[in-house]
Amino acid sequence: MDGFLVGMIFPAMHYGENIHVEGCVSSKLLFNLNQYVVPMLMAFLPACKRITITATETNSEQFNCSGVGTGFSGGVDSFCTFFDHYELEADSENRINSLIFLNVGSNGPGCTAEELIAARNKFYSRYNYLSKFPNELGLDFIPLDSNLHSFHPWGHQLTHSLTTVSAVLIMQHMYRKYYYASGGLSYLELYKYHDFLLNRDTALIDPMLLPLLSTESIDFISDGAQFTRVEKILRIVDYEPLHRYLNVCIRVRYGKSHENCSVCSKCCRTMMILNSIGKLEEFYHVFDIQKYKKKIEFLYVCQQVVLQFKDPFARNSIELAKKNDIKLPSFLISYSLVSLVNFARTCVPAVILSKIKAIINRH
Ligand SMILES: [Zn+2]
Repeated sequence: MDGFLVGMIFPAMHYGENIHVEGCVSSKLLFNLNQYVVPMLMAFLPACKRITITATETNSEQFNCSGVGTGFSGGVDSFCTFFDHYELEADSENRINSLIFLNVGSNGPGCTAEELIAARNKFYSRYNYLSKFPNELGLDFIPLDSNLHSFHPWGHQLTHSLTTVSAVLIMQHMYRKYYYASGGLSYLELYKYHDFLLNRDTALIDPMLLPLLSTESIDFISDGAQFTRVEKILRIVDYEPLHRYLNVCIRVRYGKSHENCSVCSKCCRTMMILNSIGKLEEFYHVFDIQKYKKKIEFLYVCQQVVLQFKDPFARNSIELAKKNDIKLPSFLISYSLVSLVNFARTCVPAVILSKIKAIINRH
């Protein structure tokens, strides 16, 4: 019952309800949850209340299985984890031999029957789209559907580490190791910018939390915080499959298309970094470069100039641009334009606002 237990920890702590499992759970996991995970979640997610977890039966048996897995979403973090622990990994003990794709919240919310259906449809269509890459390599790509997100109305970002581990634990008879790709900040950035993630994203505590969700049979490893997001892109930019399968778009989860929109914040962040290192043109298969340049680039760069002092992703992007002698707008111009657009957002109809943005970008 390990997976079901971990999947319900945050809702139980949110409501301050103890959990009693009428079934068998890992004795290692049960110990770690009560001793360390519950206090850790209380410290970093203020909505969490202290609870006690008990079970009618515990077990210390090892399944002794051979799977080494990670999730594959086509994004920079999952590509980097895959590149490091599949392409560069020689030791079969550590080499990824199976990929999974989960429906636990990242395909949209599940608070109503309609939302659950929409998320499920998105899950299967994204799975079909992404499965070309594992098929090419002859690797398993296992889809796992669920209604777990219907118990997490607070949004996927707040609890994604717990819901992902919950789903993988359901398959712990297959995996002995699972790499969980980090949210894009390095160890030092997680420390320096903890205010940026506090009470917003469990990625803040992944390096501490994930090992404590391991059982006798499966080790969870928080992978990727060895690098900043920029360092990750530099690491994998010449990996050929990235040019065909990179899929970073936020709108992919909510819109109808699987393609990168080339104007959302994650598309722009990636395109700005690729532009700074002179590699953007190589990604014409996965991004609409003209759309980015014409519609949003200048305004997006202005936003990053303004945000660089509090947002670690913006700071990384600006530092890289400066290092590569990319001309950047001044802080004064950036601040004025971003303020103007933010003001217009509150009082100008969307159609006129998009025209204002286009004019700013042209100039
Ligand atoms: Zn996008």
